Amino acid sequence: METLAIVCLAYVFSATATMPKTRDWIGLAILAAGATVHIQLTQRQEERRRNRTRTVLIDLTAVWTFPAALILPAPLSVLLVVGLRIQHWFIARRPAHNFIFSSVSHCVSVALTSLTFTALGGQHWSSGGWGSLREFGIVVLAGLVFELVQLVYISVILALSAPGKVSVHNVLGSKADNLLEAITIGLGAVTAVLLVVLPPAVAIMAVVTVVFNRLAELDQLQDDVRTDPKTQVFNMRGWTESAERALARAVKSSDSLAILMIDLDHFKWINDTYGHPAGDDVLRHLAHLLDEVTRPTDVVGRFGGEEFLVLLPDTDQAAAVVAGERIRGAVAGQRIATTDKRGDEIAIVERTTSIGVAVYPDHGTSLKSLMQAADAAVYEAKEGGRNQVRVATGLNQPSVTPSPVNKVTH
Ligand code: GH3
Ligand code: MG
Ligand code: MG
Repeated sequence: METLAIVCLAYVFSATATMPKTRDWIGLAILAAGATVHIQLTQRQEERRRNRTRTVLIDLTAVWTFPAALILPAPLSVLLVVGLRIQHWFIARRPAHNFIFSSVSHCVSVALTSLTFTALGGQHWSSGGWGSLREFGIVVLAGLVFELVQLVYISVILALSAPGKVSVHNVLGSKADNLLEAITIGLGAVTAVLLVVLPPAVAIMAVVTVVFNRLAELDQLQDDVRTDPKTQVFNMRGWTESAERALARAVKSSDSLAILMIDLDHFKWINDTYGHPAGDDVLRHLAHLLDEVTRPTDVVGRFGGEEFLVLLPDTDQAAAVVAGERIRGAVAGQRIATTDKRGDEIAIVERTTSIGVAVYPDHGTSLKSLMQAADAAVYEAKEGGRNQVRVATGLNQPSVTPSPVNKVTH
C-alpha cells in the first residue's frame, strides 16, 4: 500500500516537473515557519488530545498544508508535509507503520489537491485574479479532494484495525469532527489568500491556529465533564442534564418515562476476592453491556460506585420491567475476563443485579423523586433476596416542608 502511494507520488512529481521559482520557495518558507510555530506552541495540547481521542485524530495542520497545495508546485507542498510530519513524529509516539501510512496519506492528499487545482486552472488567481465565484468554486472543489483522500485513509485504517466498524457513520465521523475539518480547510484557504496578497499577514494565521487548537480542546473538555472516566458512560452531571431534558419532553407531550437503578449484588466481594482492578473491569464491562442492551435513545449513566442509571424515554411500567429483566438476564449470562490479585487470568461469571424501576408520572413527577423511588425499589430488591427487578410503590413526591430530622439512609 505504501509502496503504491510512493510510486503515485513519484509519478505526480515527474508529471509536474517544472522548476520551482524563488517565489515558491519563499511561500514554502513562510508556510513552514507558520506551521512550526503552530506545532511547537500546541505540542502539549496535541498530546492531551491524542491521549483522549480514541478515533482517528483530525490533524489541524491542514491550515498550512491545504494552502501549500493551492499555491506551491506539488513537489514543494509534499516537501512541506514531510517537514511537518517529521516534527509530528516526536509528538505522536505512535507505531512507525501507522505513522508512515498516515504521513503518506497526507502527502497523497496535498499532491492530488494540487493536481486538481492546477488541472481546473485554479492557479491563475495566484497571479491576482482572485474574486470571482468560479475561482472560489475551484478552491471548494480542491478542499473536497483534500477531504476525500482523508476519508479514504480513515476507512482503510478502520478496515485494517477494526473490520467490523467500517460504516458510513464511522468513516464520515461526527458532525463536530466534520465541522472542525471544514473550518480547518477554510482557514487553509484564507492562509492561501493571505500568502498571495499580503504574505507577512500569514503570521496572524499562526496565532489563529493556536487559539483554534485551544477551542478544539475545549470542545473535548466539555464532553469530558459529562463522562465517567472509568466506564465512559455519562457521569451524574451528564446523565442528569440528558434526563432533565427527556423528562421535560415527557411532561410536555404527556408521555410516560421510566428510570432503572441498577446495583450489582455483592460487588464488594469481587474487590475483596480478586482485587480492585478486577472490580474496575467488571464495572467497565457492565457499562458497555448496558449501552449494548438498551435502545440508542435510552440514557445510561454511572450513579456512583457499582450503581448505574438508565433512563427509558416513552416507556411505561410493563415495558420498563421487560427492559430491567433483559438487563438482569444479560448480566447473569456474562463471562468477564480479567485478572486476579496475582495477575493471573480469570473469568468472573454469574454476577447478579438488583434493579429498581420508577415510572413517570406514577412514582414521581420530578427527576429527584423518581430517582428516590427507584433507589427505594433497589433496596426492596436487596431485601427480597437480590437478583430481581422491583417496581417502586406509590407516588413518591418530595415533601413540601422537609422535616429537620429528614435523613436519607441506604
Ligand atoms: P450489595 O449486594 O448489598 O449491593 O453489596 P455490595 O457489595 O455490592 O455493596 P456495597 O455497598 O457493600 O459495596 C460496594 C463496593 O463498591 C464498595 C466499594 O469499595 C466498591 N466500589 C465503589 N466504587 C468502586 C470503583 O470505582 N471500583 C471498584 N473496584 N470498586 C468500587
Ligand atoms: Mg450499591
Ligand atoms: Mg451492590
